[in-house]
Amino acid sequence: MKLRTLEIALEGLEGFGTPDPRTEQYSTPAVLAARLLHHAHLLGDIGGRVVCDLGCGTGILACGAALLGAARVVGVELDPEALTAAKRNAAHLEAEVAFVHGDVRDRGLIEGLGQFDTVIMNPPFGAQDPHADRPFIDAALALAPVVYGIFNTGSIPFLGAYTVGKAEIEFVIGGIFPLKRTFPFHRHDMVEIGVEIVRIRRLHGA
Ligand code: SAH
Repeated sequence: MKLRTLEIALEGLEGFGTPDPRTEQYSTPAVLAARLLHHAHLLGDIGGRVVCDLGCGTGILACGAALLGAARVVGVELDPEALTAAKRNAAHLEAEVAFVHGDVRDRGLIEGLGQFDTVIMNPPFGAQDPHADRPFIDAALALAPVVYGIFNTGSIPFLGAYTVGKAEIEFVIGGIFPLKRTFPFHRHDMVEIGVEIVRIRRLHGA
């Protein structure tokens, strides 16, 4: 599937009905989601692979992975309302995704999910809770040897330090995350946040 075809398929999806600022519910724009997925697919990390989307929200990354021919896709999300929308999105695209209601901080839940080839995620950037992305990184590396994540520009040194001895960080691509006015504390109609798509590779024996 071409990048543009994937973008178009993902553009029509439903976002968060009532986004919750505490868990930083911002849907990944279709262009950015398609970039991440397409790049991962070209590197052999999506097609025919078992893929997990952590904090899948309304399911854009999970659904896109299924469209690209992942063997199995699981999406994990804390918010039941977002999961309901994710299920509608998957049905709309005829994408097969198993959605799991749960918290990525729940170790029992993560262990029970089994092993994956690839984790894809757009974790909270830590604007509300500065360490909100850490349990996502921990869970991702427990689940799969290869992880793609979207992080704020400038996060790579932190990611490197946080995963030192456990993983290698590879920069994939930079992008812009346009955040529309979503919450009352937002003072502008739109702000653009610089982001980096990063590939994290678990080191052997880690
Ligand atoms: N992956 C989606 C949503 C990104 S927003 C997309 O790319 O569009 C981050 C998502 O993580 C939100 O849906 C939020 O509800 C979820 N989330 C935040 N903390 C979580 C946790 N501890 N466990 C599971 N999901 C969580």
